[in-house]
Amino acid sequence: MSAQRIRQAVQYLSFVILMYGGRVGIHLGSALPCFACPFVPGCGGFCYLMGLQGYIGFGLVAGAAAGKEVLVALGWFLVFVVSVALLGKVWCGWICPFGLIQDWLSWLRKKLGVRERYLSLGGKKAIGSIKHIFLILIVTLPPLITAKILPPDLYLPFCNICPGKLLLPLFAGETKYLALNLDNAVTLWVSVALIAVTASTLVAAFFKDRFFCLFCPLLALIHFLRPLTALRLVKEPTFCVGCGNCRRHCQMDVRVLDQNISQAQTMECVDCLRCLEACPSSGALSLKFLGFQLFSSSRWATSAWRRKP
Ligand code: SF4
Ligand code: SF4
Repeated sequence: MSAQRIRQAVQYLSFVILMYGGRVGIHLGSALPCFACPFVPGCGGFCYLMGLQGYIGFGLVAGAAAGKEVLVALGWFLVFVVSVALLGKVWCGWICPFGLIQDWLSWLRKKLGVRERYLSLGGKKAIGSIKHIFLILIVTLPPLITAKILPPDLYLPFCNICPGKLLLPLFAGETKYLALNLDNAVTLWVSVALIAVTASTLVAAFFKDRFFCLFCPLLALIHFLRPLTALRLVKEPTFCVGCGNCRRHCQMDVRVLDQNISQAQTMECVDCLRCLEACPSSGALSLKFLGFQLFSSSRWATSAWRRKP
């Protein structure tokens, strides 16, 4: 079975567990390195970013009184670090429910015969910098909200504009985030922002594979922990013949893939392994867990990948 088929099976299984697991008593905790959403009724676990915002707000402002909460926050941080250390960006390419939705949009685009749009290097850098802005806001806004310097309706500021909050609950029949929240001016503008960000992300993800992943703050956090990760995409430059197949088939348009480098896994890589399957050179690309080879380019390459996408 090809790596892509295994990946697809894992994506669907993860989707079912993370969206509906809670209904049958499965809950994988609140520190998952993927966009599993706590706003989904009966979800099977949720994204670390939500807890992070809550703990930063409460922990920093409440200070000593929040001692127990700080310990809980540290515990969940450790769970997050261990999860990333075990699976790395497989969380993005193989497990994230919002990643699967983006892959459905790419599939639809191909079925309709629409060509993928590529961003210029400058455009990619500009969009990529949004994830750093998100990370700064995720860390700085919650304490200001808890201290009542900003309105309490901005609580969980990133969740308020995360497209996952609007989209993922729909799969559990929850439609309330589709509507404007008219409670007050702040909630109105927050709900307008959520709808606008979600709509524009979906349109962009239709034309560009995994568009949201380009500026996902969670992917950035996972990448910062890369030195700890056991599961890695590895390139052996001496086996590379420079054909460029890997770069042409890359979901994230990683442009250094076919160059003479050993560090193939850049910030934007989501471990989808399309490059590995498209590579015709034995051993040039491989996925390794603690140095043990799980997939390699020679074993999985098929003639279908030789064609340009
Ligand atoms: S570098 Fe390879 S594994 Fe990473 S996103 Fe591109 S094709 Fe997928
Ligand atoms: S597809 Fe393989 S051989 Fe071709 S450039 Fe990429 S790594 Fe090198």
